[in-house]
Amino acid sequence: MPDNGRIDPALSLITVLLTKIMPLTRIPASMRAMTHPTDCPCGSGRPFAQCCGPYLAGTTPPPDAEALMRSRYCAYVLRDEAWLLATWHPDTRPASLGLDREPATKWLGLAVKRHENGGEGRAVVEFVARYKIHGRAHRLHENSRFLLENGRWWYLDGNCP
Ligand SMILES: [Zn+2]
Repeated sequence: MPDNGRIDPALSLITVLLTKIMPLTRIPASMRAMTHPTDCPCGSGRPFAQCCGPYLAGTTPPPDAEALMRSRYCAYVLRDEAWLLATWHPDTRPASLGLDREPATKWLGLAVKRHENGGEGRAVVEFVARYKIHGRAHRLHENSRFLLENGRWWYLDGNCP
């Protein structure tokens, strides 16, 4: 993983393509209405269209690290790999996630435990996500680190507390 703080110009261009153009084109509105549940999968209790929906559609950028984290959880639920990659910091972003190749992960719920804004464009969000694979329940407890760069929040990396 490169850790020199520089962003490859080619990667920046890809980021622009992913964030500005792809979200608007990749899912037809009719399909969006079909696949997106009424209640937001992030567990906010608000309708998807008034919570994480606009972030995944690319119409509004998430205003803070917690909103980005919640939208990324929704992207796992909805298998929206493009959003996960578009919000992953270029320094740590994998080439792909292979969400369509992995065994069917059924996401059960998200609980955000802590949102700590460390200042200077750094934030940590602690959460617990529950899921099932082949009928077996699992629990992911993670501290995710986020960076504010070029006016938007990025997922950097995560570790288990
Ligand atoms: Zn949401």
